[in-house]
Amino acid sequence: MDKIVSLCRRRGFVFPSSEIYGGLGSTYDYGHYGVLLRDNIRQLWLRAMVRERDDIVALDSAVILNPRVWEASGHLAEFNDPLVDCRTCKLRFRADQLGQSQCGRKPSKHPGETPECDLTEPRQFNLMFQTHVGALQDESSVAYLRPETAQGIFINFKNVLQLARRKPPFGIAQIGKAFRNEITPGNFVFRVREFELMEMEYFVPPDEAAEWHRYWIEERMGWYRKYGLRESMLRAREHGEEERSHYSSATSDLEYRYPIGWQELEGVANRGDFDLTQHTKHSGTKLEYVGSDGERYTPWVIEPAVSMERIFVALLADAYHEEEVAERQRTVLQLHPAMSPVKAAVLPLINKNEDMVARARRLYEELRGEWVVEYDDSGQIGRRYRRQDEIGTPFAFTIDEQTLEDETVTVRHRDSLAQERLPISGVKAWLGDALRRDWRSPKGD
Ligand code: ATP
Repeated sequence: MDKIVSLCRRRGFVFPSSEIYGGLGSTYDYGHYGVLLRDNIRQLWLRAMVRERDDIVALDSAVILNPRVWEASGHLAEFNDPLVDCRTCKLRFRADQLGQSQCGRKPSKHPGETPECDLTEPRQFNLMFQTHVGALQDESSVAYLRPETAQGIFINFKNVLQLARRKPPFGIAQIGKAFRNEITPGNFVFRVREFELMEMEYFVPPDEAAEWHRYWIEERMGWYRKYGLRESMLRAREHGEEERSHYSSATSDLEYRYPIGWQELEGVANRGDFDLTQHTKHSGTKLEYVGSDGERYTPWVIEPAVSMERIFVALLADAYHEEEVAERQRTVLQLHPAMSPVKAAVLPLINKNEDMVARARRLYEELRGEWVVEYDDSGQIGRRYRRQDEIGTPFAFTIDEQTLEDETVTVRHRDSLAQERLPISGVKAWLGDALRRDWRSPKGD
């Protein structure tokens, strides 16, 4: 994990937030390549969830909702983590994660393991961030930053049903920021207090819920495999009864083998009719499906939910690779080309040669109309390749002496280091084909 954090910092993917003021624990800002990678994750999720399907529509609901939403959803009463304090080191821990936490005085031990540790009894701590809406700061103005985007979907169920003219099975997908006042954030962006959730609520006839639950576990596993995560690093694990959230009838975690061990990447929950029933009770608005033949029922909900941050860390962990090439260390991000922040680099071999620079600039202008492409003419060519390797650029086109003679360029492949020559006029079509091809991690399955 330290190597990934250091690469992210060095190449401007991720910065600790508010750094010039000493930071704010476990809060991060994203730099240029981080933004590009996140945008690819977002677009590829939306493509699979919305663009390539007829049965799912998009939604973008507000972050601050009427606080009664959180009463109805059970978050005010139940969205708690058990917290313990250590009276000796004054640190706070999640009672259910003591085994993964470090003692404040002896980091090699877990809290409670040394004779000096003095832990309080667990007490419930609500994870929602509170704020006030309007000028009055009293009980009547209390509101919350959403801890999940799902509730914004449930309260719009009727709008979508009527206006998008859908009938179950159909889904509503949303991407947006969520906020949880986590007791023990950490492990880089794996657990943060502000994150971007990607959730889809899929409304189904109750007797089809178990089947759709299995379907979405498979679908989402397939998505991760498609974008390059190795099979051996992924697994689905069903929750035990005691692990399930207050709303869930069944949940499976899709787990990834992070550098910190097997951990939840995505949750696929069968939420039953809990949410629509609760909002019907609390709002007085009937949230149910009524068919043209008079058939009526409250749909059950299957929910795949994942944060951008968990995908971001999984992709980087899977892609990070160090090797020795010609007695030099090479660090490379072996990302699926569709995920790579930059798709290709255009490099004139000699930056003082005006013809080379002019051709390279022309090629760069041509390609950047279509993809994120970088032009780089500074420093030795080897160093420029290594810079691109570190940000995961799959292809580099080099313009050299031979280009001036026969209008061909060298293409260098990030993963195999193979080089071949192509006519400069065919580069755009070649790159389009190369980016559409299936890709497998060079590390194997
Ligand atoms: P945990 O038990 O680890 O706190 P959870 O089971 O409460 O997590 P869910 O409510 O199922 O998490 O959240 C859905 C998804 O949101 C998770 O699968 C994960 O991808 C992501 N997620 C949850 N909390 C965080 C966080 N603090 N930082 C980053 N991503 C998060």
